[in-house]
Order: sequence, then C-alpha cells, then structure tokens
Amino acid sequence: MPIQSQYDVIIIGAGPGGLSCAATLAASNLSVLLIDRKKEIGPKPCGGLMTSRGFSLLKGACSSVSTQTVSLHLGKRTQEVPLGKRPLHVIDRTALAKALLNRIQGSANITLRTGTPVAAISEKEISIGNEHISCRYLVGADGANSLTRRYLGIPTRARGLGFHYRLPTSQKADIDLSAIHIFLDRNRFGPWYAWVLPNPSFVSLGTGGDASVFPMGKLRKHFDRFVASLGIDPSTAPFEAGVISYDYQGLESGNCFLVGEAAGLVHGITGEGIYPALISGTEVGKKILDPHYKISIADILRTKKAQDRLARLLAQNGPLAGILHHAASLAVRLPSSRERVLSLLA
Ligand SMILES: Cc1cc2nc3c(=O)[nH]c(=O)nc-3n(C[C@H](O)[C@H](O)[C@H](O)COP(=O)(O)OP(=O)(O)OC[C@H]3O[C@@H](n4cnc5c(N)ncnc54)[C@H](O)[C@@H]3O)c2cc1C
Repeated sequence: MPIQSQYDVIIIGAGPGGLSCAATLAASNLSVLLIDRKKEIGPKPCGGLMTSRGFSLLKGACSSVSTQTVSLHLGKRTQEVPLGKRPLHVIDRTALAKALLNRIQGSANITLRTGTPVAAISEKEISIGNEHISCRYLVGADGANSLTRRYLGIPTRARGLGFHYRLPTSQKADIDLSAIHIFLDRNRFGPWYAWVLPNPSFVSLGTGGDASVFPMGKLRKHFDRFVASLGIDPSTAPFEAGVISYDYQGLESGNCFLVGEAAGLVHGITGEGIYPALISGTEVGKKILDPHYKISIADILRTKKAQDRLARLLAQNGPLAGILHHAASLAVRLPSSRERVLSLLA
C-alpha cells in the first residue's frame, strides 16, 4: 500500500499488543498504519513464559516448550510442583511475532512500517522526522517507555527492570536447562525470583525487580554469583535488559487508547505481560470497530490487583514479608492449597 498522510487508525508499536489490535482490524473498512521503530518485528528481552490462557489464543501457531511441572527452589530445597490443569508454555518472541504477523498478512487495509520511530505526537497526528501523519484513532502499543502515554500525560509510578542471559540450548550447567525453574530467595533476589525458561531457540536465565524495593546493583551482583553457582559460564551469551511497567491507570482517553505495557498491564508478581497485551490489543480493536463495544479486561485487572497487592506486601522489609514469602512458596508446594495459589499466579 502506498504511504498516506492520513489513516483511520495509527497503531504505534508492533509488539503483541499492537499486532493483536491490528489483527482485529484486519479486513475491516478502516485504513490502519502499524508502525514500529525496530527493523525486525519480534526480538525483545523477554522470558517468553505464557500461561495456558494466553497460549491458547495463539491456536497452535507458535512453537513452544510446554511443561506440566515446575522445579521450585526455595533456598537449598527443591520441589517439583505439578501444574495440573495449568500447564506452562515458553515461546520465542520472534516466533510469536511471526504467528501474529501471519494474521495481518494479505490484509489490504493494513500498512506496516518498520524501522520507523515515532518522534512526537500531537492531537490526532504523529511525526516521523519531517513527516506528519494524521488519524481518527491513535493506539499506543509502544511498550514500557510509551511515548503515547507521555503524550496523554499519564505518569508511570511503578517500574521494574528485568534482565537475562540468552543461553544456547546446548549450554552446559549443573541443573537441567530443559526444565522450567523458579528460584525464590529473598536475600538474593528480594521479593521476586530468578528463572530458567527454556524455549525452542534458547534458554532464558534471568531475574528482575523494582529498584525502589531492591537495589539493582545488588541484584545484578547476586545474580552473577547465582549464575556461577549453577555451573554456567555465560561469557559468550547475549545479556539483555528491559524496563517493565506495571502502573495501570486506564486504557481509553477519547479517541486515543493504550494497550499492553504502555497501559501498565503487567502482573506484579509473575511479570506476565504478553497475555494482557494480546487481550487489551484485541479489545481496543473491537472498540474501534464498534464505538458501542465495552472493553472487557476485568479478568486481567482482577489477577493484576491481587498480584500487585501481594507484591507490595512482599516488598516490605521486616519479618512479615519473610513469613509471607515462605507461606506463599509453601502454599504452592502443598496439594491442598496449590490450586488456589496457581489460580492467582496463572
Ligand atoms: C527481561 C524481561 C522478561 C520478561 N519475561 C516475560 C515473560 O516471561 N512472560 C510475559 O508474559 N512477559 C514477560 N515480560 C514482559 C513482556 O515482555 C511485555 O509485557 C510485553 O512484551 C508487552 O507487550 P507490548 O506489545 O505491550 O509491548 P512491547 O512488546 O514492548 O512492544 C512495544 C513495541 O513498540 C515499539 N515502539 C516503542 N516506542 C516506539 C516509537 N516511539 N515509535 C515506534 N515504535 C515504538 C517497540 O519497538 C516495540 O516493538 C518480560 C519483560 C522483560 C523486560
């Protein structure tokens, strides 16, 4: 499609949020510009962990490493936790993007521009260098450092940082890197955790946290020691980091929408952001197609509220947080309470 100076809808960001919004608008009579600053759609620092509810939305279009158990490490103790009805899936973000791009391929109403950073937004108009493009609806799917969110004047009060090594699947280690591992250890990782997530192309070994709760320098130092303790030499593996924004303050402002992480839709404990991005992108697409449609993200907000509350409790210093941390990990291990905890997490 030739470049126009006016579209019905402009979506900034072709992550899972922007792509699912575009897929919902595909084959409609609206002209849509989907624009991303990256040349290649897909790669992003991300563990790729998806719960079944998110993975099922992909309808088998994205390969994964799927598992019915997780190795939970609490201090020196390890337990295999069966997931029952809630298996987990680890995907590669490039494969996820490919699966979502397939949904808009051939849609004559959608123009995809890559390698194109949006530099500024003004009322119903975006600027790319000297080029100005106007629209009726603007969708900010531009991730944790959203320009659209800043344009709307919505501050981001809760931010974390996640980082990981992308280890080759052939990496030697003292633990089984083909399994999912979660390491809970308040002294080393603060209230959050470290992870091993094997996807079909690489193994993500990472951790994350909120600098206002646990100093990042300390976390990085502890993480490096932890990696060495697993018998892993990461010196040739790419190290990646990314901001995680989890301050949700709404999706809609007139004809402007925020989806996914631009809206702060990340769960406070698990850091799950792919599923909320897929759902919110689809819901915003439906709203644009039918202005009477009521956006429905109540399930996501319920889980997020519960996780964010728990995260705040765990982030406190003092004995209560220690007890809670221990109780939560114990509850996952006990069959009688496991299902309730898993329903909160996944
Ligand atoms: C280390 C780490 C590990 C994580 N692990 C997991 C995990 O295991 N499971 C999970 O569910 N979530 C995880 N997350 C969170 C998850 O990656 C995000 O929540 C998810 O990608 C959000 O999707 P999105 O579409 O909203 O934004 P993004 O995927 O961030 O996409 C935003 C897009 O907007 C583009 N963009 C931004 N600004 C502009 C601009 N000005 N102009 C043009 N384009 C722009 C970017 O290039 C990008 O492609 C992790 C995050 C980090 C940092």
